[in-house]
Amino acid sequence: MGEAVAILGLGTMGTGMASNLLKAGFSVSVYNRTAVKALALVGAGARFASTPAEAAKNASVVISMLADDAASREVWLGKDGALGAAKERAVLIESSTVSPAWIAELAGLAAQRGADFLDAPVTGSRLQAEAGQLSFLVGSNDAALERAAPILKAMSKEIVHLGPVGSGAKMKLINNFLCGVQIASLAEGLAWIERSGLDREKALVVLKSGAPGSPLLGAISARMADRNYRVNFLLSLMAKDLLYAQNEAAHCNVDLKTADAARSLFEVAIQQGFGDEDMSSVIEPLRNKVGLEPQCSK
Ligand code: NAP
Repeated sequence: MGEAVAILGLGTMGTGMASNLLKAGFSVSVYNRTAVKALALVGAGARFASTPAEAAKNASVVISMLADDAASREVWLGKDGALGAAKERAVLIESSTVSPAWIAELAGLAAQRGADFLDAPVTGSRLQAEAGQLSFLVGSNDAALERAAPILKAMSKEIVHLGPVGSGAKMKLINNFLCGVQIASLAEGLAWIERSGLDREKALVVLKSGAPGSPLLGAISARMADRNYRVNFLLSLMAKDLLYAQNEAAHCNVDLKTADAARSLFEVAIQQGFGDEDMSSVIEPLRNKVGLEPQCSK
């Protein structure tokens, strides 16, 4: 058996990550609040842990992949939390998209236990997690990254070391700020196209092949057009990322007005019941606006 690794959180991303660790021959223990989501991984050879502490206690590397600050705090520090059970020389990796303030607090507590700590959020989505093609954005010292690298490599196509602890979390929020704003503006642009009388497919070809074109615009516009909302990235998580980005930028005296506007679209979608759909469903409230004629007024 290979090195013992614990994965805390088997959502869209954690499931794919754990699966690739198993394929790479690591001895994997898994914890998820909703235990049933661990079944397929246990069938593939993972060891089921009923608490975060049980998952972490024998692992030399513990990785968490959870929704937000509150979930991460609960799993590391709550009842039967992972931190109190982790081995003294363990490597602890926070891969969730969380706030740099929480990373700083968690890193301090990990240091008190004598553990190595990295923040290593990811870019890539469900498909990249399943294919072991994520990109890790790492904040850590060199020694901690050297210990973590073989495990991160089994789940990724690249590891970008951005600086000391906290650097990965900051970079991830800047990245998702730009993604969230582009998705919100795409939703407005596509709703406008659909009411304009233009041929939607021709209009999208113009956008995709022109200056606004990006991998994100290509992928998300197709999902919006097809109303394909199978979850790659939960809409509620993008609202969370934009809020964390605004808070973090405010510490640097940067006022993210475009994030504010984008987040208001995601919040409206959450109010209308799209929080647990894919983030591309952010267009639906714009399509559904009551009282609008199907075409623009001349
Ligand atoms: P997800 O499918 O919603 O999974 C969230 C995980 O957090 C689940 O394991 C969930 O447990 C757990 N959780 C939520 N609240 C909890 C709480 N209070 N206590 C304990 N566990 C809790 O999310 P995901 O898509 O895998 O994303 C995970 C992280 O990666 C997020 O920070 C997200 O922003 C980030 N991320 C996502 C993507 C993407 O494309 N999906 C890409 C890059 C980064 P249950 O199963 O019990 O609900």
